[in-house]
Amino acid sequence: MPTIFSKIIAREIPSEIVYQDDQVTAFKDIHPLAPVHILIVPNIEIPSVNDVKPEQESMLGHMFIVAKQIAAEQGIAQSGYRLLINSGDDAGQEVYHLHMHLVGGHNLGPLLTKHH
Ligand code: 5GP
Repeated sequence: MPTIFSKIIAREIPSEIVYQDDQVTAFKDIHPLAPVHILIVPNIEIPSVNDVKPEQESMLGHMFIVAKQIAAEQGIAQSGYRLLINSGDDAGQEVYHLHMHLVGGHNLGPLLTKHH
């Protein structure tokens, strides 16, 4: 099922695209949770990590190379940043088109709150 991200990738709806090539697209999150909050998204529709295939390994690795480049461009390579991928309901995945969050620009605090 196509999601809103496919329309963003196809530039059918507006977004602030910061990077695009034949494999991935990166654009600013519409509701940023940090001074820098960018989503790095495969151009093909992969719903979640559960759906990745071995033949996509190179494209998935490419997402890290793009993340590193964007972190440098955004000026947060040295100050630090976090890469996050939510998968499924317990992680709060909202958009079922695989995406890596790149967040940074201030101290992000602990990864998770304590389980109780
Ligand atoms: P998830 O919870 O699925 O890991 O994250 C989905 C993210 O997509 C959220 O941070 C949300 O703000 C962002 N998002 C949802 N719809 C849009 C949209 O139409 N445009 C942009 N730029 N971001 C979106």
